[in-house]
Amino acid sequence: MSPVRDMTKRPMPKQEPFERVRNFDEVALGYTAELAAEEAARCLSCKRPGCVDGCPVAVDIPAFIGCLVEGDPATGIRTIKQTNALPAVCGRVCPQEEQCERSCVLGKKGEAVAIGRLERYLADWEAEQGAIEPPELPPANGRRVAVVGSGPAGITVAADLALLGYEVTMFEALHEAGGVLTYGIPEFRLPKAIVRREVDYVRSLGVEVRLDFVVGKTRTIDRLLETHDAVFVGTGAGLPWFLGVPGENLNGVYSANEYLTRCNLMRGYRFPAWDTPLKRATRVAVFGGGNVAMDSARTALRLGADEVHIVYRRGRAELPARVEEVENAEEEGVIFDYLTLPVRLIGDGRGWLEEIECRRMELGEPDESGRRRPVEIPGSEFRLRVDASVCAIGNSPNPLISMTTPGLQVGKRGTIEVDEETGGTSRERVWAGGDVVTGAATVISAMGAGRRAARSMHETLAATGEGGWR
Ligand code: FAD
Repeated sequence: MSPVRDMTKRPMPKQEPFERVRNFDEVALGYTAELAAEEAARCLSCKRPGCVDGCPVAVDIPAFIGCLVEGDPATGIRTIKQTNALPAVCGRVCPQEEQCERSCVLGKKGEAVAIGRLERYLADWEAEQGAIEPPELPPANGRRVAVVGSGPAGITVAADLALLGYEVTMFEALHEAGGVLTYGIPEFRLPKAIVRREVDYVRSLGVEVRLDFVVGKTRTIDRLLETHDAVFVGTGAGLPWFLGVPGENLNGVYSANEYLTRCNLMRGYRFPAWDTPLKRATRVAVFGGGNVAMDSARTALRLGADEVHIVYRRGRAELPARVEEVENAEEEGVIFDYLTLPVRLIGDGRGWLEEIECRRMELGEPDESGRRRPVEIPGSEFRLRVDASVCAIGNSPNPLISMTTPGLQVGKRGTIEVDEETGGTSRERVWAGGDVVTGAATVISAMGAGRRAARSMHETLAATGEGGWR
C-alpha cells in the first residue's frame, strides 16, 4: 500500500510582519535541509511530468527533486543549471503558481509541490559551498557578440554563447549589472548579493561587462556591428506609463521605476550614508495591482510610511501580482482600495501632492484580457489624503534603440518585432528578446527568449563559415 501523501506544502519560514516592515532584509528565509527533504518527498515523480511543460526553460523538475530525495544536492543543482542559469533568482521570484506548479498533479486535490522553494534551496545550498566553479570552456571560436542590456535576457544569451566559445561583451547603461533584478525588485524579495553572484558567474565564463554604456548614445547598434558579428538587444521595458490625469507633475509624485531605482540601485533607503534622498512620506498611494505595485507599497512601509494604500481599479481576484506577494503585503498592513480609480492629483498650493481624488468602480462584462472590465460609478468621487504617490501601472521599452537603428521594426508600444522562434529582428545580425519584445513580463520568459535567441545566433553564425561577417 502506498503511503498517505501529505497534501499541503511545507510552509516557508518568514520574518514576522511586525519585524520585517522595519528592515530591508529578505522576508522569506528559505527551507532548512529537513523541510526541503520533506517537501521533496511529496513529489510523485510522474512519468509524464506536466511541471516540465509548464516551465518556460524546461528544467527537469522531477530529476532535481529526485536528487533531493536521494540526498544528492550537488547533482540536483547541476540538473537545474543545465537549462536555467539563474536558479537562485527564479526560485525566489518566478510565478511558479502560474507555471510549473500549476501543472502539478498534487495541485488537483491539494497543494502542488513547492517546486520554486526547492529550486531556491538547492541554489542557496550551492552558494554555501563557496565559490562556484565555472564549467570548462571550449576553445574560442573567433566570433564576437555584443549583448545590449544585462537583465535576465542578456545574462542568458551571454552565458549560453560564452559556453559555446564566443567572445561576448555585455553593454549596460547603468552603473550596476542585473537589469530589473538589481534596480527594480527590492532587496527584501531578492537580495542583491544573489544577483551579483549570478553576474560574477557570467563574468567567470569570460564575458566582459561594460557598465555606464548607453547603446544608442555611447555607440549605436550599427557601430557595434562593425566590431561584432552579431548583436542581441535585451534592453527591457524601462519607460514608465503615467495615469494621464491632472496633477501628475506635483512634487511627491513618482513612477515606480524612479521610486524603486532610487531605493534599490541608489540605496536611497540608506540616506545620508548614501547620497540619494528619497522623500520620507507618511501616507502613500500606489496605483496598480502587479508585482511592481506590491514592491513599491512594501518599500514605502519600510521607508517609514504610516499608511500605504494600493489603489486598484479592479477587485482582489483580478490582481496580476503573485499571490504570495499580495499575501505578504496584506500581512504587512498595506491597505487595498479595490475598485478605485485615481482621477486627479491635488496639490497643497506650494507644489506638493496633498490629496488624490478617486472614483469608485464596479465590474462589468469581461474585456479582451478575459478579466471583468471596471466601469466608473458616476458621482462616487472621494478624496484620499497622501503626501506621495507611486504609479505602477506598466512600462514600455525605451525608444532609444529603435530611434537610432534604421530598419529595426517596432510594434505597438515600441516593442521590437521578432520572429518568435528565433528572436531574429528585421535587421540582419540583430536579435532581441525579453521585455523589449514582449513588454513588461517575467524573469523566466525573458530567460526563455534569451535561450532561443542564443541558439539561433549560434546556428546562424556557425553557418556563415570562417571569418564570419566582420
Ligand atoms: P531588464 O531586466 O529590464 O534588463 C534590461 C537592461 O538593459 C537594464 O539593465 C537596462 O538598464 C539596460 N538597458 C536599457 N537600455 C539600454 C541601452 N540603450 N544601452 C545599454 N543598456 C540598456 N518578474 C518575475 O518573474 N517575478 C517577479 O516577481 C517580478 N517582479 C518584478 C518587480 C518589479 C519592480 C519589476 C520592475 C519587474 C518585475 N518582474 C518580475 C519582471 C521582470 O523583472 C522582467 O520581466 C525581467 O527583468 C525582464 O528582463 P529583461 O532582461 O528583458 O530586461
